[in-house]
Amino acid sequence: AELDGRNRVRRFEPGMRAAAQAARELEQELHGAVARGEFRLVYQPVVALADRRLTGFEALLRWDSPRLGPVGPDRFVPVAEAAGLIDEITGWVLREACATAAAWRHLGDTTMAVNVSASQLTSPDLVGCVAAALAGSGLPAGALVLEVTETALVGDPERAAACLGALRALGVRLALDDFGTGYSSLAHLRQFTVDVLKVDRSFVGAIAEGEPLPAIVRGTIDLGRTLGLEVLAEGVEHEHQARLLAEGRCDTAQGYLFARPLERCDAEALLLEQATA
Ligand code: C2E
Ligand code: CA
Ligand code: CA
Ligand code: CA
Repeated sequence: AELDGRNRVRRFEPGMRAAAQAARELEQELHGAVARGEFRLVYQPVVALADRRLTGFEALLRWDSPRLGPVGPDRFVPVAEAAGLIDEITGWVLREACATAAAWRHLGDTTMAVNVSASQLTSPDLVGCVAAALAGSGLPAGALVLEVTETALVGDPERAAACLGALRALGVRLALDDFGTGYSSLAHLRQFTVDVLKVDRSFVGAIAEGEPLPAIVRGTIDLGRTLGLEVLAEGVEHEHQARLLAEGRCDTAQGYLFARPLERCDAEALLLEQATA
């Protein structure tokens, strides 16, 4: 047992205590990590399913902590959100991703997607931050895609809608990430205007060889087409999944079958290869 700030005794299970300790340690190391240059981005290709040509990339954050070693975003992003550090980190991600995409413009007209945390859709910072990253890099707004999850929309839907509206007014494209895993996905589609639906990889993983597309995948593709949205399948690992998705007229895909997240130079080499092919 230990005393919390209000002198109440809290009892921790040993596992909880270890987890809380690990989160505190992460948080300590996250302070100043942007300034110390500990983050980098990797870029996962997005391909058109019809011809497998590269249409863009998703920027994914990597943290090499000198003390903790490499820590994945699934672990540190929630800690950064809780500690109020996510705005600073996202600011860096946006500037870096936009600068990279701008430097790649001469190699073709591809998009760059950046993940935005749930908490940021209700913070006043985001729109200004995006506008600054675009202006600073010279990247056309239409080449930037912001990926938001449905959980970002449930807390304060009015403010989230206002924020998404302001982002679209800049000309940025919006993608609904992990589509179908959240609460009330269909209601969100009515309330929030987006450009891309990203079919969650748990549904893509259920696409089995020699069977029709699972009803949820089929339904999401049809829904997206009806609404005039791009439908992107994530987590495509097997050839039969890509084939069935293409036959089902899903537009684009990402996954280990095509490419893992790549270091900047490797992503650029891929673009160059396609540009000169
Ligand atoms: P996400 O946005 O759903 O990103 C997709 C995750 O799936 C990535 O993990 C990617 O490496 C992984 N992945 C891609 N293809 C495959 C595949 O074929 N099979 C499997 N099993 N996995 C695949 P990663 O990079 O570890 O990122 C995890 C999550 O962390 C992301 O999920 C996103 O929610 C968050 N994240 C990553 N970068 C950022 C960032 O810059 N900002 C914020 N706020 N969150 C980020
Ligand atoms: Ca994403
Ligand atoms: Ca996703
Ligand atoms: Ca996810």
